[in-house]
Amino acid sequence: MYESLLFEISSPGRTACSLPDLDVPEAELPSEFLRQEAVNLPEISELDLVRHYVRLSQKNYSVDSVFYPLGSCTMKYNPKVNEVAAAMPKFTATHPLQPEETVQGNLQLMYELQEAIKEIAGFADVSLQPAAGAHGEFAGVLIMRAYHLSRGDTQRNNMLIPDSAHGTNPASCAMSGFSVQQIPSDERGNIDLDALRAACNETTVGLMLTNPNTLGLFEENIEEIAKIVHDAGGLIYGDGANLNAMMGVARPGDLGIDVMHFNLHKTFSTPHGGGGPGSGPVGVVEKLRPFQPGPIVAKDGDSYTLKMPEQSIGAVKSFWGNFGVLLRAYTYIRMLGEDGLRLATEDAVLNANYLRVKVGKTCPVKYDRVCMHEFVSMGDIAEGIHTMDIAKRLIDYGFHPPTVYFPLIVHEALMIEPTETESKETLDAFADVLEKIAEEARENPELLHSAPHTTEVSRLDEVVAARKPVLRYKA
Ligand SMILES: *Cc1c(COP(=O)(O)O)cnc(C)c1O
Repeated sequence: MYESLLFEISSPGRTACSLPDLDVPEAELPSEFLRQEAVNLPEISELDLVRHYVRLSQKNYSVDSVFYPLGSCTMKYNPKVNEVAAAMPKFTATHPLQPEETVQGNLQLMYELQEAIKEIAGFADVSLQPAAGAHGEFAGVLIMRAYHLSRGDTQRNNMLIPDSAHGTNPASCAMSGFSVQQIPSDERGNIDLDALRAACNETTVGLMLTNPNTLGLFEENIEEIAKIVHDAGGLIYGDGANLNAMMGVARPGDLGIDVMHFNLHKTFSTPHGGGGPGSGPVGVVEKLRPFQPGPIVAKDGDSYTLKMPEQSIGAVKSFWGNFGVLLRAYTYIRMLGEDGLRLATEDAVLNANYLRVKVGKTCPVKYDRVCMHEFVSMGDIAEGIHTMDIAKRLIDYGFHPPTVYFPLIVHEALMIEPTETESKETLDAFADVLEKIAEEARENPELLHSAPHTTEVSRLDEVVAARKPVLRYKA
């Protein structure tokens, strides 16, 4: 295929923009600001420029182009109406340093979003400050710390975390100065209650719990777990990344969770991946309210104002957090309403279970019971075949691979989350392709070992690629 490269097709004097004639006197630039040498930029036409960037965008994977069952990441469709709202000049032309009375609309939106999240999750208050899930975790763990210290409970320095947890959980603890104790899972994929009981004592900060957990399984003993931890004086942190399996049906605040983050970019549909931007508001029960990060929007009669909680852990993000993401999440929630949010959850769970049964015939599911919004299969389906081979071969068939090798407690894990926005036809096509790949694995395993065959580059060292990316297009 003919593919123009910007520098190669550069032609002196050609340009992609046309500026109007100068109608003001030309000013002299001070000589210290002048370039010593001409900058080496390609000179090309507007059309060639458009083609270049459109082509680059097509090399990328997105929910708008392919099925993207990346477990734990909730890659649902992001409705375009969110973008319409986020692009409204009345929002884009405001600045967080403006006087509060001139940005009442923005503050009202934030207030109503706080109220909506409180209602959905059953908490006393919500701070919209954190910029991502991991950031919300960090803020939440600092809130737990501030609570214990405010009671003179200074010996609590040990956080309990199940072995199925996301890596950001122990990282948030380490950043807050706590040690981490791992709690094993039992054979049904729940937290081992005896191990939890044995670990709880006067040094326990609390338990970081993901529910449904990263196996896509509802924690069956959630009430008993909360009782054990609370009886020991600890708090329950909820990793809310999996709220897409629960919203409108059950409220974490009612199940014993004390503090929890929300991934607005997952559950409430904002384009994500590649590092952001995201938003990770954190919700709390009544007794943790004084410690929340701020500012938080309060309603005073008919007006909205920003307030800092009395014993706040402080601001964790500049200004109002990632306002553009808040705006999209708000739009999504208002468009779906109460019934729509519940239906989204129900369909997410239905889709996951439909696919669990179909895919399970090819890639066995480790904990094979009714799942929530995702499930974890195993990819070692033939002699010498690994999960990575299947993931890479899926790319050849036009699917983004599922999450691989996570959670760590499942050997050769293949973590699949279809989300509610996929049709039955897409789910069937995915399951059929997996079956076809399994056939290839038996008959021609080399096809899998050398996959993907359709991409610009094939098997990269992913760690080196992420840490030391080679960004030159020529050797
Ligand atoms: C995505 C995720 C996180 C981290 O959220 P980010 O917004 O990516 O920082 C934490 N826990 C679980 C279970 C997740 O899936």
